[in-house]
Amino acid sequence: MVGGAGRMGQALAENLNLIDGLVVSALVDVREPGHLFGASYFESIDALKPSEIDVVVDFSQPDSVVSSARWCAQHRRGLVIGTTGLDEGQRAQVQEAATATGVLMAANFSLGAVLSERFAAMAAPYFDRVEIIELHHDRKVDAPSGTSLTTASRIAAARRVAGRVTPAEPTRRVTVEGARGADAGDGVRIHSVRLPGLVAHQEVLFGGAGEGLTIRHDSYDRVSFVQGVAIAVAFVDETPGFTWGIDGLIV
Ligand code: NAD
Repeated sequence: MVGGAGRMGQALAENLNLIDGLVVSALVDVREPGHLFGASYFESIDALKPSEIDVVVDFSQPDSVVSSARWCAQHRRGLVIGTTGLDEGQRAQVQEAATATGVLMAANFSLGAVLSERFAAMAAPYFDRVEIIELHHDRKVDAPSGTSLTTASRIAAARRVAGRVTPAEPTRRVTVEGARGADAGDGVRIHSVRLPGLVAHQEVLFGGAGEGLTIRHDSYDRVSFVQGVAIAVAFVDETPGFTWGIDGLIV
């Protein structure tokens, strides 16, 4: 578990251990974890013994994802990436690693969130407009959330396939910059909320002639990501190449 001392790393280390067939054997982090949950602590991924690791799970920050990808490619070990906010160069290095080993990267490992993305894509062709509100805890460093970007691109793709054109933006005068959120492409706007007390939440709001549809998902606790990570770990252990998201794994 890279980022093993972090909020996600600690929650995953504790709960993945409860799943049959999974043992979190090492926590890798630049700082010492509060709890080890029976694992050993390493300051760097390079200190790991490949023979003792089947799969690396990375919930840390973008730079360390690149190190994890290099290590996994070199030692032919599966890699599950939950870290968000990678730039294009970092994504390219992850793709490169996937030519040597199995890599799965997902913006969201919660089954409910993945299903809500799927439902949003289903609804997308039937409404004139759609806007996304993503709400997260106040220590999240990137915006908008990776989940909202994935949702927006799935909505835009579904609208393109259906030949649905988003009507022109109605706002002509913005008196406070950012009031209309950010256009994530094809007129799908994202609004990011950061507040203490939140975990990870998202609303997709569709508007059409005389009706609206809201698809809302709430992660109340980081344990909501455990099942999806466990599915991904089993998958990359057996499947080479690059896989984006767990949507295809929960058919
Ligand atoms: P966090 O800040 O609590 O934890 C990150 C950890 O990474 C910290 O302990 C930090 O010390 C460690 N770290 C930093 N540099 C490192 C390095 N070079 N090597 C090893 N460890 C290093 O953050 P968090 O809330 O646990 O989130 C971590 C990441 O996971 C973020 O990118 C977040 O957006 C993402 N996330 C993804 C999902 C998902 O479902 N995909 C869900 C929640 C969070």
